[in-house]
Amino acid sequence: MQSLWQWFVLPGTQQILLAAIIALAIGLIIGWGIRRNKGLRLKKAIPDKGDKSFFKGIQYILSNDHDQAIEEFTKSVQVNSDTIETYVALGNLYRSKGDIDRAIRIRQNIILRPTIDKQIALQALFDLGLDYRKGGFLNRALSTFQKVGQKDPSNVKALQEIERIYEELKDWENAFLTRAKISRLAKGDHDHILAHHLVEVGKLHQQRGELSEANSSFNKAISTHKECVDAYLHLGDLYFANQEYKKAISTWKKVVEKVPQFTFLAYRRLEGAYSRMQNLKPVEDFLKECSELNSDAFTHLALARYLYNENDIEGALTEISSALELAPTFWEARRFKGEILLAQGKEDEALAAYRELIQQLSMPYLRFQCKQCGFLPKELQWQCPQCKNWDTIDLINSGGTLIEAQ
Ligand SMILES: [Zn+2]
Repeated sequence: MQSLWQWFVLPGTQQILLAAIIALAIGLIIGWGIRRNKGLRLKKAIPDKGDKSFFKGIQYILSNDHDQAIEEFTKSVQVNSDTIETYVALGNLYRSKGDIDRAIRIRQNIILRPTIDKQIALQALFDLGLDYRKGGFLNRALSTFQKVGQKDPSNVKALQEIERIYEELKDWENAFLTRAKISRLAKGDHDHILAHHLVEVGKLHQQRGELSEANSSFNKAISTHKECVDAYLHLGDLYFANQEYKKAISTWKKVVEKVPQFTFLAYRRLEGAYSRMQNLKPVEDFLKECSELNSDAFTHLALARYLYNENDIEGALTEISSALELAPTFWEARRFKGEILLAQGKEDEALAAYRELIQQLSMPYLRFQCKQCGFLPKELQWQCPQCKNWDTIDLINSGGTLIEAQ
């Protein structure tokens, strides 16, 4: 029966839930068979009337009629209140319907039974945590999963739930400590997640003005995971705010070296540099090196911004043309072209550039998608807002231009 409960731990997305319900139904049938055999052996047969409702309930689950299933299972437990599986199924059905109060009462009913098997009680406690979570009672969910962890310290599923709640509460230090525990118990790629938690810890320090703590968190993140783009970006920001411009630029440059597809994030940082830095030589060197490494549309646009800032209008327009040749839907480049032309008093040409821009508006140049769940965020996010996985959101091809431009 263990696998039966395992199934129901899964998150309540429609497909997974349906799979879980089918598995549950199969589990229930098997469980019923075992119970029946045991019952016969113990000369304690289950009343037929209860079993009829139990089977009807399963049929309703299979035809996805949760309300009728609930009704039948309720009849079943009224006839035979010892059938734990039916209670578990009822609790899960109530949770999936959003009737959290009822689901919680059912778990408590299971947990409080004096003769209950330890594993079943533990699973009911875990289910109670899921009920609280679904109901939005994050603190109660957290303490419930922590109780599961105290009783069973190697329970990775409980630790994963705890980590997720800490992430939602933005308690990044505890999220980090929890992931560290998970990394000791389960195989897998934990370093990139640990690094993100450290970066988030660093950002909080940064917001509070605790700059040396922020610095050490970002560095710790980088030593945990060398490809942690977010750590380089924010460490660079720290240097930049401290007017250590060369250090800032060499830190941002690491993004170009380590994770070239996210180079555009480093370029965005440079846009703030022009108004702050007096000597732009490090920026120029950086962009020259970048254009030797990869001459993509982003690099041309970054060069255009640099040249425009240096009053080299023709040079800037040439770079924009190169960017648009590589990527005609790159609307940021078109918009910049329009801005330059307007500033030059070339209204007609600017109008033409903006007209092209409007045609491209429905096709954003930068598009992102989660590799795990398919979610399409408007902006790059390190943690998917839908499936909560880290580093699963990537650039996707936009109108056949982006990948060619890389
Ligand atoms: Zn996702």
